[in-house]
Amino acid sequence: MKIAFIGLGNMGGGMAANLVKAGHEVNAFDLSEAALAAAGEKGCATFTDAREAVAGVDAVVTMLPNGDIVRKVYTDSVIGHAPAEAVLIDCSTIDVATAREVSAAATAAGHDMVDAPVSGGIAAADAGTLTFMVGGTQQAFERAEGVLSAMGKAVIHAGDAGNGQAAKICNNMLLGIHMIGTAEAFALAQKLGLDPQTFYDISSVSSGQCWSMTSYCPVPGVGPKTPADNDYQGGFATALMLKDLKLAMEAAGTAHMNARIGAFAKDLYEAFDGAGNGMRDFSAIITEYD
Ligand code: NAD
Repeated sequence: MKIAFIGLGNMGGGMAANLVKAGHEVNAFDLSEAALAAAGEKGCATFTDAREAVAGVDAVVTMLPNGDIVRKVYTDSVIGHAPAEAVLIDCSTIDVATAREVSAAATAAGHDMVDAPVSGGIAAADAGTLTFMVGGTQQAFERAEGVLSAMGKAVIHAGDAGNGQAAKICNNMLLGIHMIGTAEAFALAQKLGLDPQTFYDISSVSSGQCWSMTSYCPVPGVGPKTPADNDYQGGFATALMLKDLKLAMEAAGTAHMNARIGAFAKDLYEAFDGAGNGMRDFSAIITEYD
């Protein structure tokens, strides 16, 4: 297939390279010259005009920073410029309302479109092991699935347009909440005189067990190797967790729901980010209990 890829940053760079490895012809576009040059080195054809990059392609994939940019890129350069038969796939994490708005505009122009945000970070993007949560019609999902499976280990249909984003932000709201809970439990256990490894041995096989504990433990030297063992470098940045919690709160507002614990998690991560921790892994929130 001939695929246009727009947004070749930390995530998109690795994803586009995996499409090339799977035998696709990839037209790359990014505002950043460095990102574009790196994509060229990985076998993509590089373009300095997004409209030229999408001309004549079978699919368009975008991996962009936020909803405003996604709306602008689709409105100015994709819808009406890519062939109407091209399937449109937005993998960015954005708000549900914008995802639905862009999908409606694409559908009106004759496209199949899905929102397909990912679970997994830069390492998974490079390794082709992302999980995609996909919102769109059954037909759009089936057309996007082949493209997405070249970049991930799981492609799951979440329902209609916007439901991929809904799944992503609800999942990450829960992740933020249970990371803070895990951090607080370990901090209290230690203050009460328990050795963290002993607490892990007990709680990881008891009812307090959760992913933040057994797959991503915030305590250095406990559980599998995690960013905690590397001074909280790498992993999933606090700034990105905050972005997702804000999106979740925005969605809760439009759904007229008071997501109390999610709101509290957002406030805690906002304060932690504001104190200069935006680039540290989100599990570093445990250091607030030092
Ligand atoms: P990034 O900032 O590294 O990459 C974004 C790229 O988009 C940049 O190269 C930038 O130059 C380009 N860009 C911005 N505006 C553009 C425009 N108008 N036209 C073309 N290119 C444009 O960000 P990232 O870490 O790759 O994240 C991308 C998306 O993936 C975000 O929505 C993020 O929330 C989501 N995400 C990131 C991670 C992660 O661990 N980094 C994990 C899951 C999801």
